Amino acid sequence: MKIGVLALQGAFIEHEKMLKGLGAEVVQVRLPGQLEGLDGLIIPGGESTTIGKIAAEYGLIEPLRQFARTTPTWGTCAGMIFLAKDIGIDRQPILGVMDITVNRNAFGRQIDSFEVDLPVTGLDEPFHAVFIRAPLVTKVGQDVKVLAALDDGKIVAVEQGHLLATAFHPELTPDSRLHAYFLGKIKGV
Ligand code: GLN
Repeated sequence: MKIGVLALQGAFIEHEKMLKGLGAEVVQVRLPGQLEGLDGLIIPGGESTTIGKIAAEYGLIEPLRQFARTTPTWGTCAGMIFLAKDIGIDRQPILGVMDITVNRNAFGRQIDSFEVDLPVTGLDEPFHAVFIRAPLVTKVGQDVKVLAALDDGKIVAVEQGHLLATAFHPELTPDSRLHAYFLGKIKGV
């Protein structure tokens, strides 16, 4: 299986290591042509404004949009923001392919970074989730399935058909279950 990791900025190396550990072939994507022949794509965490700006400069926005419309794509943290239809900001380039409304930097200053053991649909045991200046999903479309929410109901993991988005960073822990879940989704497509 050949998986791309968008490698413009942010935690792409960590995703690459995780995927390789699970036996996938990994391509670092920086150019539109590198999307060809991929079975799936991960858009990593980092800074969504920077990822969007570089993607626009590299002519990647439209190719990424086309790709994510049809092929399994998983956005983590900034990647979740990048996939969303609505982030309440017009001037920041996003793909807008997933029917979710996302609030950037949604956690107040005091807890802008935190870790929590999070129950996730489809996983037997909670997932140790690392949140770093994380976004929140504030609204989901009717085709979107909520996979995880915090104790207070805040939505932090969602799925819409071939699309997956998590507000936290599964690549920063040794737990590869969500990466395995994504690869499993691809095999099932
Ligand atoms: N706060 C960042 C943003 O708005 C996301 C943080 C992250 O990816 N860890 O893009």
